[in-house]
Amino acid sequence: MTEADKKSALDRVGRISRSRLEKSHAHVGPNAGSVAEVYYPSWTNDEHRNYPLSFCTPLRFTLPVDGKARGCVATAARRRWQSQEPCRLVYGVASLPLGAPVELEVILSNEVRESTEFLGGIMPATKLATAPMKVAQIPSPGADFQIVEREIPKPGVGQVRIKVQACGICHSDVLTKEGGLPGIQYPRVPGHEVAGTIDELGAGVSEWKQGQRIGVGWHGGQDGTCPSCRRGDFRNCRNVKIPGITYDGGYQEYMVAPVEALAAIPDTLSAVEAAPLLCAGITTYNSLRHSGALPGDLVAVQGIGGLGHLGIQFANKFGYKVAAIGRGSENAALAKKLGASLYIDSKATSAAQELQKMGGAQVILATAPNSKAMSELIDGLGPNGKLMVIGAAFDPIEVTPPQLIFGSKTIQGWAAGTPADSEDTLRFAELSGVRSMIETYPLEKAAEGYARMMSGNAQFRVVLTM
Ligand SMILES: [Zn+2]
Ligand SMILES: [Zn+2]
Repeated sequence: MTEADKKSALDRVGRISRSRLEKSHAHVGPNAGSVAEVYYPSWTNDEHRNYPLSFCTPLRFTLPVDGKARGCVATAARRRWQSQEPCRLVYGVASLPLGAPVELEVILSNEVRESTEFLGGIMPATKLATAPMKVAQIPSPGADFQIVEREIPKPGVGQVRIKVQACGICHSDVLTKEGGLPGIQYPRVPGHEVAGTIDELGAGVSEWKQGQRIGVGWHGGQDGTCPSCRRGDFRNCRNVKIPGITYDGGYQEYMVAPVEALAAIPDTLSAVEAAPLLCAGITTYNSLRHSGALPGDLVAVQGIGGLGHLGIQFANKFGYKVAAIGRGSENAALAKKLGASLYIDSKATSAAQELQKMGGAQVILATAPNSKAMSELIDGLGPNGKLMVIGAAFDPIEVTPPQLIFGSKTIQGWAAGTPADSEDTLRFAELSGVRSMIETYPLEKAAEGYARMMSGNAQFRVVLTM
């Protein structure tokens, strides 16, 4: 670039003055694996806040390595520059001499360029992402939520960082809150109904784009090596990773997830709408579509709550005759509005007998975590009927062998599904209009939102917004 080119570029650059560029410091440091980083702590002043996105991006770095210049394009900067956070750029370079001079070109509108030389320094990788983010964490089993600040996490190889926009609060979060599973490491950030955008790609990620709208549900990754995985049955991976349990989940402003956990979100679904569909939605949708029930069959949905209100809608859109079963009459009108053909009040009458009057149910989707209520419904199944259990109570379902033998009935459990199943769920919701009923809370009120979910009074899913 000639001096005249530089001057012309500076003119077009406008408020980013040459002196500012020269005063900026780049620190070149080693990082895990093959990723190197350049950090601009001084480019975080007010002036940058108002620059349009296209003004500051993309950037190209030319790094003299082994006497040869290597270039690469870093795109991670654009959002940070807008948001005034310290600017951290990540790019893949095989090996980088510590303290090497770095040349930076700011490419504007693909034609205007400014170039300057930065002297490299060394900055430990752990201190690179100094911009804080807000996190709702559980410090230890049974403890209350804490709102704390943490450094924004960095995606590793095969991972992405997600800018979380919404995260549903699911009853299964009680496992993290109360320490219901062995091996959970604390502090832990719960949340497995995550919707947001890809904020940064880790090394080796090529199938996803920065800025893409994605979600992460219960299935947060698989080991790829267990007997189930070897048969392609990732849903039943013996070592399935669960966001919020195996690794930090979505009750935070940014989270890191492996690519195998990602599901694309259709344009017409908002993040808040998508979030509950990534656990409650997929669980009801996927269990019903694998239940064996065919259009026109009688399908009962037990429980009109977080799962049940979605189950009724999906069952209706699948073309089943839907019998909604609730305790008390208060949800009768709502159940019918959601698509139930009839409502059975199990407090006032025997739901099993009511179902038998209609020939018995082909499938009963048991959503309310109440084993006794589920046990009472088994006699409502028709021949070859199936009790599909998705409500997680921890006491036993009671059944006698003859109840199952005569009529060849089955009881089956079902857990969520893979991210591909999540995409099916989201697409079906988009096509059919199935939506969760939602109450939202800001991230800072995670404890309040969680308490609301636990009260059983929420109508019907609670979603945190960031
Ligand atoms: Zn869940
Ligand atoms: Zn596996």
